[in-house]
Order: sequence, then C-alpha cells, then structure tokens
Amino acid sequence: MKQPDLVYRFLFEEEDIRGQHVSIDNSWQRIVDQSDAEPAALLLLGQALAAATLLVETLKIEGSISLQVRGDGPVHLLMAEATSRHTIRGIVRQNRPIETGQTLENIFAANALVITINAGDKKPYQGIVPLQGNSLTEILQTYFDQSEQLPTRLWLASSLQNASGLLLQQMPGEGHDDDSWNRLLMLTDTVEDQELLELETTQLLHRLYHQEKLRLFPAESIQFACSCSRQRTQNMLHSLGEAEIKSILAEQGEIKITCEFCDASYEFDAVDLGEVFSEAESQPSSSSLH
Ligand SMILES: [Zn+2]
Repeated sequence: MKQPDLVYRFLFEEEDIRGQHVSIDNSWQRIVDQSDAEPAALLLLGQALAAATLLVETLKIEGSISLQVRGDGPVHLLMAEATSRHTIRGIVRQNRPIETGQTLENIFAANALVITINAGDKKPYQGIVPLQGNSLTEILQTYFDQSEQLPTRLWLASSLQNASGLLLQQMPGEGHDDDSWNRLLMLTDTVEDQELLELETTQLLHRLYHQEKLRLFPAESIQFACSCSRQRTQNMLHSLGEAEIKSILAEQGEIKITCEFCDASYEFDAVDLGEVFSEAESQPSSSSLH
C-alpha cells in the first residue's frame, strides 16, 4: 500500500527543471463520501483539487488558491481550494445527470474557470481561464501558457479513490536547454492515469525518469480541513441584515447553517441572533461560501 496524502517536490539537477507530484487519497475520500454528485462530476473535482495543490506549491504563496466554475449546466458549481498549510477542501454540486458526449462547457454551461489567489493580506488576484478544451488539464494548461513566465506542464488524474497530479516547470534563469525540456516532457507524456494514481512517488519517478539525475525533497502531508467557524457563520448572517434574519427566525424559530464543505452545522436561536446584531456594526461581511 502506498502512503496516502502526500505532495513531493523534486529537481532535475542538471537541467534546471523542477517538479511536483501530489497524491490525495484519504482526504479525497472524505469529500467523495460526503457528496451526492455522480462519478463524472466528482472526477472533475478530484482533478481540480490536485491542480490547486500543485498551484499553491508552484506559486509559493502564503495563503490559498481556489479553482471555481459556476454555471447553469448539470454541474452548476465546482470549487476546489488548497492552502499553503497543505489543506484542501472542495465541493461539486449537480442538479441533473450529465449526458454522454457533453463537453466541459456543456457540463457546466459556463464560459470560464476562475482561479482566485489569496496571498496573505494582499488583495485577492483572479485569473479567468476560458472553459475550452477536452479536459481540465487542457484548460489549466492554457492558464499556464498565458500567465506563467516559466514554461510549465501539468498532468492530472482522478478516480473515486485517489486524485493525483504531476507538474514540471523550468526554473528561472538563462540558458535553458530545449532538448532537455522536450525530453522530459516526452518521458512524462508516457505516464498513465493508473500510474499517477496508484504508484508511490518514488516508484513513479523511477518509472518515468530512471536515467535522469533527480533529487527528491521530503514529502509534506495533505489534509482535509475546512476554514468555516461559528464566528464566520455569524458574520455571514450579520451581512444578510437584521430584517431578513428576523423574518427567517419568525418562520423557523431558529437558524441552522450547514457548511457545504465539511457538513459542520451551526445553530442560532433568537438569543444568539440578538447578540449578533447588538455587536458593533463594524463586523466584516464574509463571502457567500462561508
Ligand atoms: Zn466547513
């Protein structure tokens, strides 16, 4: 059995090319178990999570990266988030079956994938990537080609048990050897989804690059974690306004909010909500997905 939930960085010492391999297993399982979306939708989420994890590592930010698609298709919301603390969370929501032969554009009935980078206190950066391509890998490759100055390539695979990704990137600097880059891309293109998903990183790297001089750095563990909290939920309720809250309260007696990412639920009765609105009006409002 391979060791689950790890991300590895590696370096081709003679080529100035770096790479990463991520495998998300138990933490992915938890997301799968909690979702009622069909496998085809879940597989997209798995790949998006693997990609988000690789992106956080590549961009070396302190914060989080999310990939998000919203539309009117059978799958109307997909959100995958990874943080620099090596945590992931994600959600995919579906309201009707995916039909055979539907493209990604049809599945989501959306035009774009939105990449949001939250790096500490800086203003979030949003990148919009057209949802054109046969796979998430292809779509994200467009993002790398347009935004990263450093040539970067990505391979993604997912099953209902694991989600995995591999990334190669040229290091900053002069005098890159196109032959080495192309050779490594050709070697990596021979990787099969099954291998990405099931092999230990050391086995995978040996299978692909056994003739290359490669340095492997210690792994970091990936964990499922959610950033929701009672305080954040309270801020969200506050942003809805007192009138709205009072009307829900009159109807339901109490308000129960369940987090879509982790299933935690937060209950507020009239007394709690009275406190929410008696607190200072300077509470920051939160985003729609708390
Ligand atoms: Zn949560």
